[in-house]
Order: sequence, then C-alpha cells, then structure tokens
Amino acid sequence: MNQARMLASLRREVRERAGERCEYCLLAELQALPPHEPDHLISLKHGGQTISANLALACFVCNRFKGSDIASIDAVTSELVSLFNPRTQRWFEHFRLDGAYLVPLTVVGRVTEKLLRFNLPYRVEVRARLIELGKYPYSCNRNPDHSHENSKVDERYTAQ
Ligand SMILES: [Zn+2]
Repeated sequence: MNQARMLASLRREVRERAGERCEYCLLAELQALPPHEPDHLISLKHGGQTISANLALACFVCNRFKGSDIASIDAVTSELVSLFNPRTQRWFEHFRLDGAYLVPLTVVGRVTEKLLRFNLPYRVEVRARLIELGKYPYSCNRNPDHSHENSKVDERYTAQ
C-alpha cells in the first residue's frame, strides 16, 4: 500500500473509531465545518508517530487550541499535567456534561478543558442549540437508525 492510500485508510479508521465525533468536545463532524481532523496525541515534534494508537479525531477548533501541546500547567495545583488522551483514558471519567457546558471532573479534565477552551461562549451556544434539536452529543457512526443522517453526511462530502 502506498503512503497516500495508507494515510487515507488510517484517516478512515480514526473517523469511524470515533463515531465521526470529536473525541474531546463530542461535536459530530456532521455538525461542523471544516471537517474534523486526525490529531496526533503526541505531536510529531515530540516524537509521536502517525499510527492509529497515537491519533484521535478532533474538531477543527479543539485541534487548533491543542496544537502540538501534550500537557499544561494546572491552575489549582501548579503541576504539569498531561492532556486527556482518548486512546488510554475514558471521556466520562474526566468530563461530564452540565447542559451545554463541559465540566472537568479531574485534573486531567481541568487542564484539557482550559487549554482546548471547551466553554467559550460561542461553543456553548452551538451545543445549546444542538441540544435543543436533540443532536448533541450525537454520533454519526454507521448505525442503521441514523441512516438518513448518514446519507446527508455522505452527500456533503461527495457533492462537488
Ligand atoms: Zn472538539
């Protein structure tokens, strides 16, 4: 398999594993422009590799705020703390939803919420509107119950 095909295959695997939803803020790719991106958990500049175990699906906004960071200083303890890792940690152990707000439950959740700015007013407003529509948190995985939404997703990417 050449590199371009391998990367396309890896990207597809990352999207499907995540249910086509940001693994940080849970925004579905269907609900976001531009499309979600594979995020290197350990960035290339820190020696991370482009392999499945080092990738997570991230929305454009989360990925921009995360950048190449792998840790941050906790405002409460002043300790250096690794960011949330969707491959080795469970979202519900570090965050919970309080309406449209993403509330950290742990120090890992706290540094990640702060660095990725989950609760910027416009992000909370988008979530609140999606909640009103019954569309957050929402997964676009290949569940037959969501076939209508899936076909809309597919059209968005195939219509040129
Ligand atoms: Zn996100």
